[in-house]
Amino acid sequence: MSDLPIGWRDHQEPGRYRLEQTGSQDIFGVVHGPQSLKPFVFAPREPLLQIERTKGGFAAHPALPHPEQIAVIGARACDLAGLAIQDRIFLNDAYRDPYYAARRDELFVIAVNCTRALSTCFCASMETGPRAKTGFDLALTKVDDMLLIEAGSEAGSGLLSELSLSPAHENLIDEAARCIEACARSQVRQLDHARLPQALYDAHDHPRWDEVAGRCLACANCTMVCPTCFCHTVEETPDLSNQQTAHARLWDSCFTQEHGYIHGKNIRPTIKDRYRMWLTHKLASWIDQFGMSGCVGCGRCITWCPVGIDLTEELSALLTSDSRSSVVGSPVEGT
Ligand code: SF4
Ligand code: SF4
Repeated sequence: MSDLPIGWRDHQEPGRYRLEQTGSQDIFGVVHGPQSLKPFVFAPREPLLQIERTKGGFAAHPALPHPEQIAVIGARACDLAGLAIQDRIFLNDAYRDPYYAARRDELFVIAVNCTRALSTCFCASMETGPRAKTGFDLALTKVDDMLLIEAGSEAGSGLLSELSLSPAHENLIDEAARCIEACARSQVRQLDHARLPQALYDAHDHPRWDEVAGRCLACANCTMVCPTCFCHTVEETPDLSNQQTAHARLWDSCFTQEHGYIHGKNIRPTIKDRYRMWLTHKLASWIDQFGMSGCVGCGRCITWCPVGIDLTEELSALLTSDSRSSVVGSPVEGT
């Protein structure tokens, strides 16, 4: 119990994250930190193969992980939506990634339905939250000093059956639903995705791309914190005798120079190219590719961008302004 962030609550704005101790006994006052569930399943550094020189050539030995069971307490609806996207990419396509699968099999998720929205949240407009719908083992909703617990899987039901709990009263269920709905209504940001993906493709030559590129540092923070970004690179680490090499997968970002380097040419040499590719993939071509948006509305990229670039603001400028006129940027908060 003492490991839980009792009494703490987070405040997030573009480029700004603050924690406040309220002195309350609230254990779920912190909505989310920089990381989602992503690092638990798609490891930031995953050893893939150990390759050794042999007499006739070389032999490759897979380095499959043997992770311990992990229970995560406090995942939010946006985190579950992000996890569903990672599952789609690593498990449910033509190729099932055994490294991701090994970690995913050992994950037990205790979600918390949000009853307080951050100023950066827009999950309601993305229809991914604030209620956890699927992908959890247990989901909790805090109503005053009561906890409503819902099982979402066989493992979750099994755990519930071992605890001595009282069946939930209907009043508590109704009150929990009201709190979650109030949280959805309180969200001040929203992403207007009704005209996507085509409207964003049509904005390819919009002057706003130059304006945002003038602020973007290409630091890659937005992609590191995003629960759905899955770009990666591979790295070789040979030993000094050149007899063995370790082949590992590392998180990468489409904001780096190296990521766009293919066959002797960089296909995205400017920051404008990279920001446009990131936003267009996230909100448009992801829909063509996977049948869903690549954004779940968690707002992390807004908070953790050091210059406070806000994708909801960028999309709004790209879709509502006349692309032939020059665009004057809005002031950036929290820089
Ligand atoms: S693009 Fe930003 S708001 Fe959308 S899922 Fe990624 S981090 Fe969250
Ligand atoms: S949008 Fe922000 S977080 Fe992302 S690369 Fe640019 S400066 Fe960094």
